[in-house]
Amino acid sequence: MPLSNRIAICPGSYDPVTNGHVDILERAAEMFDEVIVAVVDLPVRKGGTLFTAEERLGFLDGCTGHLSNVRSQAFSNLVVDFAREVGAKAIVKGLRSISDFSYEFEMYALNQRLAPEIESVYLMASPQYSFLSSSGVKELATFGGDIQDLVPDGVSERLQEALAR
Ligand code: ADP
Repeated sequence: MPLSNRIAICPGSYDPVTNGHVDILERAAEMFDEVIVAVVDLPVRKGGTLFTAEERLGFLDGCTGHLSNVRSQAFSNLVVDFAREVGAKAIVKGLRSISDFSYEFEMYALNQRLAPEIESVYLMASPQYSFLSSSGVKELATFGGDIQDLVPDGVSERLQEALAR
């Protein structure tokens, strides 16, 4: 990887963004010159998302404003193709558990075959967020659990509204 203009992408659904995601983005922002949060916009994937890509991008803009080298963008093609499009040399992902590892290990092998020039970088989840997932947050919220401390400001209210729709 050249030592100047190092661009990384952080791909994911971000449905919605959690404090665990923000932690990874803050850490990636320290390591790379530019970080692009790549928001999957494939309506058919995993039975669809609760929030539209525009809503998910809006939440991300709201919680990454303090990170001047981070921006968010939707994508609907292969991760490695998107990385090439934006000139990224690295894909950064967070790892919470063995199940994340198994999945990422497989994805790494596939992506390496397709794009050997793009490196993948894995950041261990911070201990306080290692249990946190977007799906867990949605499940808690569905049953009235308090998620205020798990997601950035404003997301909790929007989640309650979306679940009531
Ligand atoms: P989720 O798996 O929660 O639905 P995404 O598909 O949006 O999340 O994941 C985007 C990336 O963020 C993945 O690399 C995922 O492993 C990582 N990630 C998600 N939650 C956390 C967390 N609490 N700590 C660290 N990394 C995380």
